[in-house]
Amino acid sequence: MQVAGLFNFVTNAMLRILLIEDQRDIAANIWDYLEHHGFVMDHAADGVNGLRMAMDGSYDVIVLDLGLPKLDGLELCRMLRDAHRDTPVLMLTARDTLDDKLAGFDRGADDYVVKPFAMKELEARIHALYRRGRLQQGEVLRVADLTLDPVNLSVQRGGQTLTVTRAGFALLEALMRRMPHLVRHAELAHALWGETGGDIATLHTHLSMLRSIIDRPFEDKLLHTVHGFGYRIAEDRDQ
Ligand code: CA
Repeated sequence: MQVAGLFNFVTNAMLRILLIEDQRDIAANIWDYLEHHGFVMDHAADGVNGLRMAMDGSYDVIVLDLGLPKLDGLELCRMLRDAHRDTPVLMLTARDTLDDKLAGFDRGADDYVVKPFAMKELEARIHALYRRGRLQQGEVLRVADLTLDPVNLSVQRGGQTLTVTRAGFALLEALMRRMPHLVRHAELAHALWGETGGDIATLHTHLSMLRSIIDRPFEDKLLHTVHGFGYRIAEDRDQ
């Protein structure tokens, strides 16, 4: 990819993670770290609740502990796959034995990490699973003649490749995942900076730069300002 250098990053924009883990301290550590890095988190503390949420929710990745009360991780994973839910599953295992790992894959887990693990490693595995899942689905986000490819990190409009900044890509991905709906300032700030926040003036500046790239050279405007609330991407007139 010729522009790979420009896009040597990953974005956590709006990735929804379901964490199924019964140990409160481990769950809290994972939650805090991932939320701080821009993920949207949900948590279940036992296998039954975890399965219910995994069945209902539209999660991008499920982080699943192997040893859980009520329903263990392997069984949960098997039931999820039996119900044709193909959300990528990253298994957490304290038991570093080959048998456990193989059993996990046999029941539909996609990858595993062995406790204790570094949070950075967990984050990297989540990204790898997410990208792999998207790649298999061939998902490209599209509105009118604008496309965003989350796997190859490319943005095109009218068949022409556009060069967007890291911040612009994260914002555009967050907006396109929710189109045509409004994405509020706080959500956009979260997509960009995670829990560390950032100021609204800088956010507006990033969106203004994004607009100059994806909209200004083109007749139909797709990025709409909803004054006082946020922004939306849609193929229609400003509201
Ligand atoms: Ca456990």
